[in-house]
Amino acid sequence: MGRSFYVKMGRMKRPLKNKIIFGLSLAAVGILALALFVFRDGSRKNQLVVQSEAGASEKTAPSLNKQEKDNSSATKAVPNPKTASARESAVPAAPASSDSGTNQAAPSVKTSTTSTPAAGAPKIINNLVSWGFAKTSGRVIDTIIIHSSYNATGGEAHSVEGIINNEYKPNGVSPHYIIGRDGTIYRLVLDQDIAYHAGVSKLPDGRTNVNNFSLGIEIVEAMSESPSAAQYASLNSLLDYLHAKYSIKHILGHSDIAPGRKTDPWNFNWNKIQLGKME
Ligand SMILES: [Zn+2]
Repeated sequence: MGRSFYVKMGRMKRPLKNKIIFGLSLAAVGILALALFVFRDGSRKNQLVVQSEAGASEKTAPSLNKQEKDNSSATKAVPNPKTASARESAVPAAPASSDSGTNQAAPSVKTSTTSTPAAGAPKIINNLVSWGFAKTSGRVIDTIIIHSSYNATGGEAHSVEGIINNEYKPNGVSPHYIIGRDGTIYRLVLDQDIAYHAGVSKLPDGRTNVNNFSLGIEIVEAMSESPSAAQYASLNSLLDYLHAKYSIKHILGHSDIAPGRKTDPWNFNWNKIQLGKME
């Protein structure tokens, strides 16, 4: 406004001046109110946009979760090779192999037992671990030791993956084979390598350091359980296969070679083993 406005206002009589000021104030309040309304309406629209985006992201979230579930179930079916370990926490952890990282890749390529399908050979799933064994060549295998393992760290007690990851791996131990509750046989360490499954041990013939000349087979079962029919069937099949492949002279339980220290295999019925206990 120019100077004339103030001149005019100055000349006006007080009542009129007050009226004009009051009117201008009303207009100002009105404009403010309108501006506020427009602003709020705009922000409300923004909120709606945000909400719909959130809705969209929630939709994608479940599908991601589903993928994760699928992945986890897939890894459950075949225990993650990166993980592994045994309920045999009492088994003195043999020195963890320092070259565990390099051990893993090579054996997994070599293994493939399915490429040598001897008649009646059991189906064995390779799930080689990277710890709990020492690489060797040319050792003579004449003993098989049977053990029991379960996942005692929470979750599913019969989870092979849980046993490998939560029991064996932290203790730096591993059997050569583990037989799941459903009878599935997994190979964790190659036969020719020395797996750390027996710990301090002694055969009836006086030989110690049983790991050096034996194969270790773990049966998945809790301490209060017995091996399942499927496990006995798979174990018999595996024992027959190994007995034919090597010159096996002894088939014993862990408790037989580490009495007082070990009680597994738990609730084991040797009468259900076709080859029987071989002492
Ligand atoms: Zn054992």
